[in-house]
Amino acid sequence: MAISDYVHALLDLFYPRSCLHCKRNLNDSHELYICEDCNRQIPYVNELHCIRCGSAIGPYSTSTTKEVCTVCKGKHLHFDTMTAIAHYDGVMKTLIHKFKYARQKFLFRILNDFVVTHKKLKEIVPDIDVVVPVPLHWLKKMNRGFNQSELLSLGIQRYFSKPMSSGNLCRIKNTESQTHLSKSQRQVNIHNAFFVKCPRSFHGKKILLVDDVLTTGVTASECSKKLKESGARSVHLLVLANAEYNS
Ligand SMILES: [Zn+2]
Ligand SMILES: [Zn+2]
Repeated sequence: MAISDYVHALLDLFYPRSCLHCKRNLNDSHELYICEDCNRQIPYVNELHCIRCGSAIGPYSTSTTKEVCTVCKGKHLHFDTMTAIAHYDGVMKTLIHKFKYARQKFLFRILNDFVVTHKKLKEIVPDIDVVVPVPLHWLKKMNRGFNQSELLSLGIQRYFSKPMSSGNLCRIKNTESQTHLSKSQRQVNIHNAFFVKCPRSFHGKKILLVDDVLTTGVTASECSKKLKESGARSVHLLVLANAEYNS
C-alpha cells in the first residue's frame, strides 16, 4: 500500500468523503460528514411542546406555562423544564449512533454545532449558573473513551462562557443498559446510582443538565433529584435528541 493510500484511509476516517447517512459522495468544498440534503432533513423539534417534559402538545395549548401536560402528569419528574433540540430519528439517529457506539468522537463537532447554534439555547442558557453533564460510570467512560454528555456540555461552556461542573455529580452504580428494561425496572435500576460529592457548590444554583438522548427521562430525573437535594434552585434539562416523547 502506497503512503498516499494510507493518507486517504486516514482522511476518510476523520473526514469521510461520503455522507454518513445516505452515503452520497460529499462535495469537499462545503459538506462535512453529511450532505446538504441530509442536513436539511435534521428532525429538529419545531412543534409546540410541553415545557415540563418536552412532549408534543396540541395547537391550542400553550407552551409557556409550567402546567404539566397529560403525558408528564403523575410522572414525578424532578427537572423543572425539558428542551430537546431534535427527535431521535433519521439523520440525527445515524450521527448519534456513530458518535456514541462506533466511538467516532470527532462527530462531537457537528453535533455540538447543532446544539449551540440552535435558537432555543439563546433563550435558555443566559440565566444558567452552571452546566452539568449527566455522568457516566467511570468504567463505562473508560471503555468508550469519553462521556458524550460531557463533550456536549464542554461545547456549551465554551460557546456561552458558562461554568461547567463535570466531577461533582457522579455515577456510583454501573447500571446495566436501560434499553431492554420496563419503566418500573428502569426506576429500580437507577435508584441511588448518582452521588454529589460537594452539595454546597450546587446550592442555590440554576443548573443546565445536559444529556445526549432522552429515552424515558428516568435517568435525567434521578440526576435532577440529587441536584435538588443538594440545594439547586432549579434544574433545566437539555437533550440533543428526544427518543421518548416523539409526536
Ligand atoms: Zn446524505
Ligand atoms: Zn408534559
